Amino acid sequence: MLELDREVGEIVEREAAMQASVLRMIPSENIVSDSVLEALGSIFTNRYAEGYPAKRYYQGQENNDALERLTCARACELFGAEHANVQPYSGSPANMAAYMAVCQPGDRTVGLGLNSGGHLTHGWKVNFSGQLYEAHQIEVRQDTERIDYDEVAKYCDEVKPKVLFIGTTSYSRAFDFARLREIADACGAYLVADIAHVAGLVVAGVYPNPVPYADIVTLTTHKTLRGPRGGMILCRESLAKAVDRAVFPGIQGGPHLNQMAALAIALGEAARPSFKAYGEQIVANAKCLAQHLVDRGLRIVSGGTDCHLMVVDLRAKNIDGKTAATALEHAGIVCNFNAIPYDPNPPRRPSGIRLGTPSLTTRGLKEPEMALVADWIVRVLDAPDDEAVIANTAAEIKAFLQKYPYHHQG
Ligand SMILES: *Cc1c(COP(=O)(O)O)cnc(C)c1O
Repeated sequence: MLELDREVGEIVEREAAMQASVLRMIPSENIVSDSVLEALGSIFTNRYAEGYPAKRYYQGQENNDALERLTCARACELFGAEHANVQPYSGSPANMAAYMAVCQPGDRTVGLGLNSGGHLTHGWKVNFSGQLYEAHQIEVRQDTERIDYDEVAKYCDEVKPKVLFIGTTSYSRAFDFARLREIADACGAYLVADIAHVAGLVVAGVYPNPVPYADIVTLTTHKTLRGPRGGMILCRESLAKAVDRAVFPGIQGGPHLNQMAALAIALGEAARPSFKAYGEQIVANAKCLAQHLVDRGLRIVSGGTDCHLMVVDLRAKNIDGKTAATALEHAGIVCNFNAIPYDPNPPRRPSGIRLGTPSLTTRGLKEPEMALVADWIVRVLDAPDDEAVIANTAAEIKAFLQKYPYHHQG
């Protein structure tokens, strides 16, 4: 136990106190239930299980097989998928496996650019996806800051990619997966939808489900889905073998079974009616927060949000994203600096911050509280160098959050 290792124990305790006393607004983060946390610390962490149920390379697999079968069944049921692979260690390896399932090194790919809201694994030049493949990238339109599907169709028709890889890390609008399917079909590409951020919203029915349209769907299990850190791949039965082979032995060794047990629990929680209400509240909170920020003179990229996140353009306040994120952190609001599309400023000091509502919603904050959150944010942005303002805001937030429990039962 941590009492026996004081050095680590003290760090963990400080982290616990910090998490509970600040507004955690990084949209990729959340707060797992006590059961998920307990499963992560379960004795499954002691095991090895290379391979798949009934096809393992180790003995003593009875319970491991039962656990993996149960987790896959819950995943398929929840997303309406034909096949699930629940072994990816995280979202990036899940994406790597998706590429490997349908591409050879050197093949052409099309993904969404980083400043337009895509992820590093969608073909960014220093990422494996930009190095192993001939990666091409689409961007949002400069005027609308949204994807122009006609432009994407034209671009894909010219590039003729083997795979169209689409998903959001900071794009706040819903994707038209039916249209993307048409575009992929017209140029003979596979469609991979990466719902790392929005998987929980898909389950809750408040964001489009790409499963009926995409050949492969990848996701993380720790963002809006509110499970342990990990990844997952869903696909049609026809690609099941290729996907499974890409995960193991393609890029990984044995699955992390403690993580898988925690995932099974999180999927069980996500199947409850309360999770639908949770997803609805996340989006309601995000829309409400965006409106409050607009009312206070800020601009939201693309004009608003359809999901749990938004990128805020700070230029009207004459402050860059890095300075803003640092001041907000000191004031008890944790977020991250983020580029806006066609950002005139450099990546380390971009023009925006990215905000999300999943953690706040898990704690029980609703629309009335979003006005307070917007007030605190704008107060700090208006006086990032004022130590009294920063300290008072941090104290106010800490006192306010005492009403909102940090633990939950899913
Ligand atoms: C977070 C994210 C990933 C990567 O997940 P990791 O678990 O951090 O590797 C992949 N794709 C998208 C769109 C993401 O937002």
